[in-house]
Amino acid sequence: MFPVVMPTYARADVAFERGEGAYLWSSDGRRFLDFGSGVAVTALGHCHPRLVAALREQAGKLWHTSNMYRIPGQERVAAKLVERTFADTAFFCNSGAEAVECCLKMVRKYHDATGNPGRYRVICATGAFHGRTLATIAAGGQEKHLKGFDPVVDGFDHVPYGNLNALRAAIGPETAAILVEPVQGEGGIVAGDPDYLRRLRATADEYGLLLVFDEVQTGIGRTGRLFAHEHAGVAPDVMAVAKGLGGGFPVGACLATAKAAQAMVAGSHGSTFGGNPLAMAVAETVLEVVLEPGFLAEVERIGTALRAGLDRLQAAFPAAIEEVRGTGLMLGLKCRMANTDLMARLLANGLLTVAAGDNVVRILPPLIVREAEIEEGLDILSRTLSQVTP
Ligand SMILES: *Cc1c(COP(=O)(O)O)cnc(C)c1O
Repeated sequence: MFPVVMPTYARADVAFERGEGAYLWSSDGRRFLDFGSGVAVTALGHCHPRLVAALREQAGKLWHTSNMYRIPGQERVAAKLVERTFADTAFFCNSGAEAVECCLKMVRKYHDATGNPGRYRVICATGAFHGRTLATIAAGGQEKHLKGFDPVVDGFDHVPYGNLNALRAAIGPETAAILVEPVQGEGGIVAGDPDYLRRLRATADEYGLLLVFDEVQTGIGRTGRLFAHEHAGVAPDVMAVAKGLGGGFPVGACLATAKAAQAMVAGSHGSTFGGNPLAMAVAETVLEVVLEPGFLAEVERIGTALRAGLDRLQAAFPAAIEEVRGTGLMLGLKCRMANTDLMARLLANGLLTVAAGDNVVRILPPLIVREAEIEEGLDILSRTLSQVTP
């Protein structure tokens, strides 16, 4: 019989029934240290008391009204994001792919409205990931995601990530925007050089292109700043946010300058569920916690400690680990053994991680992770690596 749940995922054979902070408990009673955070989503860990309280309170008041009416929670979350970023305005949706989709539509709409309707092409990077809708798999450009889904949505050109000359050479009269992740996540924790990101800004300005950053994975404190592009001191015109924003409640946002969003008027875009009161109650609380004085500095500090521990492991087990990558609490182990083998053994030893491209194991602890949990994670890694190396 065909599985009742469509078998689109290669799932590990474990189910969780409870979570608290950095830990999960499976239905067969085992405890796991969660250094995957549901792919960088549970930024405040599992069942953070303030998120539970915010969701409970909102659940007893109002769930959904639709975007036919004002939603005060959207106004508060948008104001918070605008206050802390380059953006003047935010559109709320339910996922990362939808956030990127809004960015892509805005890019076309902007050029259409400013007298350049022929400019619609977006230059993207090889190794990118932007979601699984038809347009976002085209933007990602990965063969494994595109195969069988022809025709590919038109309008995306790919150049090697980090190569400014190749990017400049790809600009043509139809080019509308540049879309990159400041740190490629699914692609294997590949950090864009700050200078590369700054030159993308200058290039976009030189050619009248919009610069779009996909911060779906890197955003909301993951790299030790609210958004990863802050490390480089550049700002995009448009940005996609999701994953950490809801701490586990599905929510996404597209942020933009007033200039980039000038044509996004009534009727131009929409979502039934986007930014509903439940999602906004949680997102508002996530932002309150992440923006508390000292929170991001602590992410940076503990990320540095974890990174140092991983570097020590790499030095001790060079036959299994080639390199440590990343920044803040967005770290990756480039493996010499199969990343999926290492992950399966880590899981058996009680540590959850996430696979990425380029044979990388992603280490994405919740942002509230404590020193003792970092030590425990490093112990499990060390024990596991000694089991797999002769
Ligand atoms: C996860 C991710 C997406 C897609 O998000 P979904 O919520 O799965 O649609 C888009 N871009 C980046 C960089 C991501 O990491």
